[in-house]
Amino acid sequence: MFESLSDRLSGVFERLTKQGALSADDVKTALREVRVALLEADVSLPVARDFVKRVQDKATGQAVTKSVTPGQQVVKIVHDELVAVLTGDEDPGKLKIDNPPAPILMVGLQGGGKTTSTAKLAKRLKERDGKRVLMASLDVYRPAAMQQLEVLGAQIGVDTLPIVAGQKPVDIAKRAKQQATLGGYDVYMLDTAGRLHIDEVLMSEVEQVSAAVNPRETLLVVDGLTGQVAVEVAQEFDDKIGISGVVLTRMDGDGRGGAALSMRAVTGKPIRFVGVGEKMDALETFEPERIAGRILG
Ligand code: GDP
Repeated sequence: MFESLSDRLSGVFERLTKQGALSADDVKTALREVRVALLEADVSLPVARDFVKRVQDKATGQAVTKSVTPGQQVVKIVHDELVAVLTGDEDPGKLKIDNPPAPILMVGLQGGGKTTSTAKLAKRLKERDGKRVLMASLDVYRPAAMQQLEVLGAQIGVDTLPIVAGQKPVDIAKRAKQQATLGGYDVYMLDTAGRLHIDEVLMSEVEQVSAAVNPRETLLVVDGLTGQVAVEVAQEFDDKIGISGVVLTRMDGDGRGGAALSMRAVTGKPIRFVGVGEKMDALETFEPERIAGRILG
């Protein structure tokens, strides 16, 4: 399917192995391949361009070590740079949820995996961190979504806020806060309504909810297979409501994960977790090394 970057580069560099240093021309040729590989891995064009420029500066003039081929050396430089861009100052698995009850707002488009990720994360917080978690669905437009969260809650042994028909999202959020406070919960998670596309109504509703509870974390859940769309969604949510991190779902699929790089580059916000399946345990802490390897193929 995809030709790996290492394969491409070893072809490009076959005739250059005897040279002592990477010349500007060698690097240019190699970087053309790097750019194609990034685009095939779903990295957006401006991000791929910027990235290639950074690598170019690092690679030009670098001495070729004896033990590796120039192709391998460029792949290493690209790999290290990918990891550098994907790694932030923060520890992806550590959420800011110290003062109980800490609100976590889950946002995203419909079908991206928001409800599933809410429950997966609740399970993780309960089991790994020993937190008492309350979940509430604010999706008043789709009663099935509210029930879905309730079913998942029962399955993983995490409480959900009782459903009251006819309440507005902001009022449900306030009720969740109250129940979390009175009930001595450490964390309450708000699963907001998704839409098929970003629209003003959705955004202003999420803004209102955010203002009402002042979330400690606002996590955007996006489908890692949607490439450029995922990046646009991340940018828009970050501009409008400010996200603190990203959960990238469907990374068990055969996508190459380039959206992770684009999102990090565009929003500067960390990818925190990765969804790797439909089961409740299929949530992993984001590891830059693994995504970098995947992007390179
Ligand atoms: P929401 O509309 O954003 O709340 O999306 P859901 O949480 O209902 O998820 C939509 C579908 O995607 C469900 O069938 C989930 O089981 C599935 N799903 C969610 N996350 C993942 C994931 O990481 N990998 C896979 N393979 N499926 C997922």
